[in-house]
Amino acid sequence: MERSTIVRVHEGLHARPATRFVKLAKGFESDVELVKDGKAVSAKSSVKLMLLAVKENQEVTVRANGADAIEALEALIGYLENPKAGLDDEDSQPAGNTGQEAAAAPDSVPAVSGATTGLRGVAASEGVAIGPAFAHFPPDIAGQGRMLQAQEIAGEIDRFHAAVSAVQARMDRALAQDTLSAGDRGIIAALRDIAADDSLTGEAEGLIKGGNDAVSAVITAASTIAADFSAVDDHYLNARADDVHAVGRQICLVLLGQDDVSLETIPEGAVLIADDIGAWDLARAPLKRFGGVVCGHGGATSHIAIIARSHGIPAVLGLGDQINALRTAREVALDGNSGRVIIDPDAATRAEFAGRVEAAAKERAGLTVFKTVTPKLANGKVIEVAANIGSLEEIEAAQEAGAMGVGLFRTELLFMRHMHLPSEDMQAETYAALAKAFAPYPVIVRTLDIGGDKPIAGIEFPDEENPFLGWRGIRMCLDRPDIFKRQLRALLRAAVHGNIKVMLPMVADIGEVRRTRVLVAECAAELKADGVPHAAFDLGVMIETPAAVLIAPALAKEVAFFSIGTNDLTQYIMAADRLNPTVAKLNDVTNPAVMSAIEMTAKAGVAAGIMVGMCGEAAGRPDLIATFVKMGLTEFSMSPASIQRAKKTIMAMAGESAA
Ligand code: PEP
Ligand code: MG
Repeated sequence: MERSTIVRVHEGLHARPATRFVKLAKGFESDVELVKDGKAVSAKSSVKLMLLAVKENQEVTVRANGADAIEALEALIGYLENPKAGLDDEDSQPAGNTGQEAAAAPDSVPAVSGATTGLRGVAASEGVAIGPAFAHFPPDIAGQGRMLQAQEIAGEIDRFHAAVSAVQARMDRALAQDTLSAGDRGIIAALRDIAADDSLTGEAEGLIKGGNDAVSAVITAASTIAADFSAVDDHYLNARADDVHAVGRQICLVLLGQDDVSLETIPEGAVLIADDIGAWDLARAPLKRFGGVVCGHGGATSHIAIIARSHGIPAVLGLGDQINALRTAREVALDGNSGRVIIDPDAATRAEFAGRVEAAAKERAGLTVFKTVTPKLANGKVIEVAANIGSLEEIEAAQEAGAMGVGLFRTELLFMRHMHLPSEDMQAETYAALAKAFAPYPVIVRTLDIGGDKPIAGIEFPDEENPFLGWRGIRMCLDRPDIFKRQLRALLRAAVHGNIKVMLPMVADIGEVRRTRVLVAECAAELKADGVPHAAFDLGVMIETPAAVLIAPALAKEVAFFSIGTNDLTQYIMAADRLNPTVAKLNDVTNPAVMSAIEMTAKAGVAAGIMVGMCGEAAGRPDLIATFVKMGLTEFSMSPASIQRAKKTIMAMAGESAA
């Protein structure tokens, strides 16, 4: 008995929906299969379902055979067509997607070695630390490599099942803790799903039956399933391969009677040194005791970075093989803002870092009074200090810091963290939630700013020699009105709920603004015809290309505001790649060429009477804010961690001019 339907599960059957589908299927005695494009898999295995890569709006067939086949079909088809009905609202974050990925990913510095200043890696979580090194280099796990005797097999299978149960129970215990953050819970829940899945256990059991010892069987089974995930043409599913390896490792450790929880013994204030560390290990480690984290693997958006940032732990990642130099270190100093790591610092460096750590703590305590301050110049003019964020999870941190709205909402993460392009409804909900959270302050949403260097599922990017000079930002959006209009419609809908403003990235030509306006008008007309509530928004542009600076007077007549993106503006003005450490010296916002571009922009904006703001990294620099204010900038948007310091800087300006 079978029935076909169109899948309405948002983003398709990825990790959690697959698990829910399996839970439903397991409630029936019948054999149940899901069929897509002629390929049938058991509906009782979430790994197999995930590997079928069923996407939203695809047609699938549910096939059931058995006494309760009719009921099974009804329930499963019902779920595919209306996934929200009758289900509890469990956390739906998959392991690779903690919901905190956006947590103010700082600009990354690729790894290079610096002989005199120590090592350099990716500055992944801001702050400085110095402390005893805590090296964590667990040995690779290897099987016994011997074939079992026939009479040993049954016992080995029992041992294997006991190990799987122990791992599941441990994960369940971790999930039961109410101290677990939502992001950490999402990571562990997705790993538990894999541990509970028949694919991994079935594959391993088959190998044990064939005479392999349990550890070898688990290693091979995990590698086979991980390879399947890696082979799917989908970035999201590719990342699940790491999760399968992590679960396999946990099962092996139980089989070997070993434990990875050696992180439990990390001393107060120590710096964790590791080549790589699994999200599972880190999420349940005593993070409060961590002084800092230094890793060979990882980048600014890796699990480790996300967890470190969300717990306020300074981190330098991506050191590559340089990490081996730290294996025997006794003490480590690290700077999570610059990516610098110093092994066994001398007395002078130690004093420098200890001083910086103390000063940072003192400064943090002293700055909290600025949270509720509205910074004004001596003439009474309010200067807005807003937050740069990339996800709803960061709203709280921004509000806690005292953000006067959002000056840059990077929408890329919304697109990157999902398997498919986000729907209009989903985007409208996200933007509306932001608008409501900060109203009456403005929320400036930047339209999708993505290019071939950061591919996302659902958009085919051409291979480009120079992706930073290629099909990105507004260029791509205007060529893909299907994607762009969905975002613009969502923004028009969200504008009903607060003070939404919209800005366009990478603008180089006035025609780009005009063509966008035509699309906005089309979207508004469509929404009106459909009777969907919507409201107009202010349209502004980012000033981050030299062309935009040079046409700023003309642009200023066509838009409601400018926001200067100093990160890109600096790289394009100086022709110095922002990610290339060899030209880092040139990539300097204080270079007179860049400062004069900023001044030209400010002049053009002020002359036209529009707001000129800044949302690049320079906006949060206390040493530059006064200069920018004098140029005429009235809005600064930065990572929440910099907000109180910026407010203090502006208040000090008012004090100075009054004195
Ligand atoms: C900038 O370029 O300054 C900016 C704010 O945008 P992004 O860093 O996201 O490119
Ligand atoms: Mg930019």
